[in-house]
Amino acid sequence: MTEPSPFQANKLIEAVAQQSYPSATLYVVATPIGNSGDISLRALQLLSLADAVACEDTRNTAQLMTRYGLHKTLIAAHQHNEHEVAQKIIQRLQNGERIALVSDAGTPAVSDPGAIIVDQVRAAGLRICPLPGCSAAISALSASGLIHDQFYFVGFLPAKAGQRDTVLQQLVSMPATMIFYEAPHRIVDSVQALLQAFGGDRQIVFARELTKLFEEIHRCKLSEASAWLQADSHREKGEFVVLIEGAAQNQEDDQAEAKRVLSILLTELSVKQAAALAAQITGQKKNALYQLALEMKGE
Ligand code: SAM
Repeated sequence: MTEPSPFQANKLIEAVAQQSYPSATLYVVATPIGNSGDISLRALQLLSLADAVACEDTRNTAQLMTRYGLHKTLIAAHQHNEHEVAQKIIQRLQNGERIALVSDAGTPAVSDPGAIIVDQVRAAGLRICPLPGCSAAISALSASGLIHDQFYFVGFLPAKAGQRDTVLQQLVSMPATMIFYEAPHRIVDSVQALLQAFGGDRQIVFARELTKLFEEIHRCKLSEASAWLQADSHREKGEFVVLIEGAAQNQEDDQAEAKRVLSILLTELSVKQAAALAAQITGQKKNALYQLALEMKGE
């Protein structure tokens, strides 16, 4: 039996340090979502070379940088000043600097600030280089065991119940696995809303506190989800990604049939009458048909 080759971290670090990190470039750098070990060697090298780091919250990023023994000029770049700060970053890049863009956790510009800065830097003709790494959504999907080639990233649902339910109705016939981000104070309500919209038979996956000490990944039917959450008060705390299994083929067919019937009825009837009649014809729920009819009328 051959000896396993020794883990040569130093050699790898040296090799990464020799790679090219062009100047006058904005680097979009993914940072850990909980475990500080989850950062790439290239990200660390770039952070050590950067002239400044644009970040969502300077206190958080200062702490993260200190953990890696790095001290850099930090530029506050949050959702309220992205346009303005983009111009400052563009000036610095035009002077030949390397600027890193990070968010509090995970990949910038994914349910986090950053997209406006990236867009403006791109429009100014400057180079953008992603340094990939953690994403809560992809980590949760990879560990979910939900088998499907396609996924649809929803991110955070609207906070207002009416808007949230409208978004969910639009997703009912989505065949791809759906990925939601949710805050702990809304998780119980959101799970109720998911049950209302998708029914009890679909699979749901809770990916909680990923990469942290109390990481938990639980999969069950939507009808069992509230009971699981409430069985232990810790389960309503921390950070969550929620995944919902996509619609089975016959649900897509139901949606197509509902649209066909409604499109005929709506030529003669009000939205309310059309939804009521379509419910009798198709056997589908009146509320869902009413929402669909409103969308079809553009209301
Ligand atoms: N940009 C980040 C990314 O790439 O994943 C997401 C930032 S978003 C503001 C924060 C949300 O991501 C949380 O509310 C939660 O839904 C999810 N999240 C972040 N870290 C997580 C973790 N360790 N475990 C589970 N979900 C997490």
